[in-house]
Amino acid sequence: MCGIIGAVASRDVTSTLLEGLKRLEYRGYDSAGLTVITSDNQFERLRASGKVKYLQKLFDKHPISGNTGIAHTRWATHGKPSEQNAHPHIAGNEVAIVHNGIIENHQIIRAKLLSYRCDITSETDSELIAHLVYLELNAGNNFFAAVKNLSHEIEGAYAIAIIHRSEPGRMIAIRKSSPLVIGLGTNENYVASDALVLLPLTKRVIYLEDGDIADIYTDKVIVYDVNGNQVQREIHILKDSLAGAEKEKYAHFMLKEIYEQPDAVAKTLEGRLSSRHVLTEAFGIKAPEIFNQTKHVMIVACGTSYHAGLVAKFWIEEIAGISCQVEIASEYRYRQKIVEPDTLFITISQSGETADTLAALRSAKKYNYLATLAICNMPVSSLVRESDLVLMTDAGPEIGVASTKSFTCQLASLIMLSIALGSYKGLDPGTETNLIKLLSSLPRVLEQTLKLDLSIKNIVSDFQNKQDSLFLARGILYPIAKEGALKLKEISYIHAEACPAGELKHGTLALVNPAMPIIVLVPEDDLVKKIKSNLEEIATRGGNVILFADKRVELDYSQARQIIRMPVVERLLAPIVYSIPMQLLAYYVALLK
Ligand code: GLU
Repeated sequence: MCGIIGAVASRDVTSTLLEGLKRLEYRGYDSAGLTVITSDNQFERLRASGKVKYLQKLFDKHPISGNTGIAHTRWATHGKPSEQNAHPHIAGNEVAIVHNGIIENHQIIRAKLLSYRCDITSETDSELIAHLVYLELNAGNNFFAAVKNLSHEIEGAYAIAIIHRSEPGRMIAIRKSSPLVIGLGTNENYVASDALVLLPLTKRVIYLEDGDIADIYTDKVIVYDVNGNQVQREIHILKDSLAGAEKEKYAHFMLKEIYEQPDAVAKTLEGRLSSRHVLTEAFGIKAPEIFNQTKHVMIVACGTSYHAGLVAKFWIEEIAGISCQVEIASEYRYRQKIVEPDTLFITISQSGETADTLAALRSAKKYNYLATLAICNMPVSSLVRESDLVLMTDAGPEIGVASTKSFTCQLASLIMLSIALGSYKGLDPGTETNLIKLLSSLPRVLEQTLKLDLSIKNIVSDFQNKQDSLFLARGILYPIAKEGALKLKEISYIHAEACPAGELKHGTLALVNPAMPIIVLVPEDDLVKKIKSNLEEIATRGGNVILFADKRVELDYSQARQIIRMPVVERLLAPIVYSIPMQLLAYYVALLK
């Protein structure tokens, strides 16, 4: 999902819009455009395929001006990247719109609009919004009522800003499952998809809530909630530190980024879910066709991203019901491969420049994979450029070297991918809706999990003067035990090894002694009995056990030195939630050392 900036003022806003677009560039996009209402109440529009600098060049050649305007950077989901498909879209020379997100019922709406002989000029789902508003105006509704009625017709995820040629000095914004923030200036007001864009313009902002409609004028902003009631939304004061490059109140970036996870995961989910589905097109225009054809999945990544891939194998096989292989990129790239027909090749990397992962992608192109998909945090990266499909993890800048929030955002992206694939593979609609509900509650569960901070800080003395440690788990949490061990090694320099708890008896048990901390993850699932018997094996050897256990699991307290009770979480989401105590543990042990 890409960027929106809009402004109503008593001065020319064109340069404000262009500057805003430049500030939105970090999100990645394929085209850009802007529309203003001129002093003689006409629309003037500039659109360009590619970078904002091309739009700027157009503007330099054909300067336009107007006091009311909207602008957009587009990441195509419906219709190829092109000038024709770039936003803003205009209907009947009366209504101009910019839209972030996906209109799920676009086919039905397009058919209806064509039956009314609407002149649709692009392949996008977004243009249809402009026509719907225009039809409402023609039916005698005023501008506000037209937009309100629109919200009853469109389904999916959207953030939309709309202007009406006959009403300069006014802009209406509406959102659902896609972020939108109003900026309050002095005798001028703005709307943007990202508060960061507003920072040079104003520090006073209102974050719109789902279903809100904002009626924006130069001297006032009126917000209505989903039921049409006028509401007073809180005015927030932006901090300069919003750019993400400051530690704020946190001692280290790693801790700050651990705490950013509920927000980062919420952003990653935002715009990609409707109430019942994952919006497949969020992965790219060709995603529906490719997912429909996919019979196998091959995931290739390094380090933490590889662990995300290991979790995804459980999700893809269980939720989508198709086979999934996961491999370390530095191994994959140097071997001969046999590729099953219709295999989707997936890479995962925070930076999108991880050398082995990139080389693996390039080597995969020599084989007959169905398509390539990248899960990445950096839109302007080689991995994104060279893949057919992309899902951006909206983790924001990760400054700490040990990956934290980008890992949980990768996981959130991968579970969305599993559900999206599942919807083409006969996933039961009830299960799908249930998974969407669970996912929507995830940021809240992560908030709760962060409250364990102090309890975790209090147990790290067990690691004082220790050289070795062991991380145990079973099933879907085994990759999280691996990630916990990797985090600890990476930042505390303590040797750490992860072992599937069922494998302990085949050798590793010999290492268990009272001097070695053993971290065990015990979610509430079918394997809980099994892991309890592993705990007995450890207890007989006097192992020093630290348990992270779901509140519901009944435990024999004599088997553990420390027990941290985890919030209640559904099994499939446990990997995301249990990542947090692993990160906090590594952080506090490193501090202690
Ligand atoms: N679905 C819209 C399109 O393809 C909006 C994409 C975006 O969020 O940039 O034009």
